[in-house]
Amino acid sequence: FKAPEILNEPMKGYGPGSPERKGLQDAIAQMEKELPFEVPCVVNGKEVKTGKLAKQPLPWDHANHLCTYHEADPATVESAIKGALAAKAEWEAMPWNDRAAIFLKAADLVSGKYRYKLMAATILGQGKNAWQAEIDAAAELSDFLRFGVKYVEELYAVQPPRNTAGSWNRVEYRALEGFVLAVSPFNFTAIGGNLPGAPALVGNTVVWKPSPAATYSNYIVYKIFEEAGVPPGVIQFVPGPPEEVVGQAIAHPEFAALHFTGSTFVFKKLWKDIASNLDNYKGYPRIVGETGGKNFHMVHPSAEVKNAVLQTVRAAFEYQGQKCSALSRLYVPASLWNNGFKDQLLTEVAKLKVGSYQDFSAFIGPVIGRPAYTKIIDYIQKAKSAGGEILIGGTGDDSKGYYVQPTVILTKDPKSVTMVEEIFGPVLTVYVYEDDAWDETLTLIDTTTQYGLTGSIFSTDRKALIYATNRLRNAAGNVYYNEKCTGAVVGQQPFGGARASGTNDKAGSMAIFYRFVSARSIKENF
Ligand code: GLU
Repeated sequence: FKAPEILNEPMKGYGPGSPERKGLQDAIAQMEKELPFEVPCVVNGKEVKTGKLAKQPLPWDHANHLCTYHEADPATVESAIKGALAAKAEWEAMPWNDRAAIFLKAADLVSGKYRYKLMAATILGQGKNAWQAEIDAAAELSDFLRFGVKYVEELYAVQPPRNTAGSWNRVEYRALEGFVLAVSPFNFTAIGGNLPGAPALVGNTVVWKPSPAATYSNYIVYKIFEEAGVPPGVIQFVPGPPEEVVGQAIAHPEFAALHFTGSTFVFKKLWKDIASNLDNYKGYPRIVGETGGKNFHMVHPSAEVKNAVLQTVRAAFEYQGQKCSALSRLYVPASLWNNGFKDQLLTEVAKLKVGSYQDFSAFIGPVIGRPAYTKIIDYIQKAKSAGGEILIGGTGDDSKGYYVQPTVILTKDPKSVTMVEEIFGPVLTVYVYEDDAWDETLTLIDTTTQYGLTGSIFSTDRKALIYATNRLRNAAGNVYYNEKCTGAVVGQQPFGGARASGTNDKAGSMAIFYRFVSARSIKENF
């Protein structure tokens, strides 16, 4: 058996008058007509309506909501775990090519039949524009599923290189004993699908708690898994209050692994909770997490200004800066800053249109919700009180949706609060360094924050690129030359970082699948 050739899902583009734009607009209009939806928990393939209702508001229009969902209560979580454990033997024993076929079919449903629906739910519920929604809900999600099949096929083929005469050594890649808990974020529908999907692909059964702010798109993903043939019980969909649902799952003796994307704070807390439960478990749970970032662009005096500016604008402001990989600290040499960089940057930021999803020319939409809005505005205030100069933006409007103007802050203090702490919003802080302080600035980049996710170096001098890459050895798990620090592509740039940014198990690569199998060596003599 050999999986079909895997290619990245192509983007369609949504130009004026194109059939793609029409298709998406129709899907959005349909969804607007039907909302709010009712979303149940799904346990063992059956809908569970607990009656404990919560809402997923529209970030564009907080008076309305996309869905009302049933929060999992303790009895529902318990039956989800029991059902996952019961479904495991058959799922794991299913021939690999059958499991693979199910996920390849799911990928085709994502990129084909449900493309516009999934994008519409991601646009309406998570505040993306059409292009950001396509990169995420159509392309990245189907790439995760398809490349996953390729990587697992390669993983299973990794066998001991030597056998002595008359014997045969084999390694079997078993699923983990127990169940996997997937806790997914609001900012990527694709990650919503990948966190339960990756462990399930290698034979695990998964209890999946989606982010409250992505409930509806994630429910569609769940239904796609179901339609593709994922059997009842293999992925249990349990939206609900994070602390309760996650706490209950982690306290269970059969808890085998956590697959997490979200904040550093929550991940650390869960790690400690897992540690304190260690004596109750059968084994040592696998802990896989992708968390925060405080990502940088380092501009060398030799850089091409126009490109560095355009990449900076995209990295900092696409999806309102709500990517773990988003750019939030920019280091520019004085020679460039004063000779065009600053002016070009402000001109480009001024062009960014803030607006609603109905306007396809709007680059900036709302941030995800009230707490995010308040936190971002607070950070802008803190930067101001610490002497930061707001070069553009700095204000918000939460009268209808949660809009924050794209904001650029100039700081003289490279360790000021908005250079250090993750904001997760459209806020870029710039530090201008003296050209001869390039070396010290590399040290600054390395030591300013606790994170280590992504970073870009801009230079036309290859020696400078290599020098900076060596000096910043642990400052980023994804490094880019002369390109923005966001937008890792599955199958091309395995994604993840170390330090406080996560366990760096590289989503979109073979590495992640190793974490969800437990190998068994078998020696046979003939
Ligand atoms: N993989 C995404 C990127 O490279 C970021 C994922 C995230 O925000 O968690 O931009």
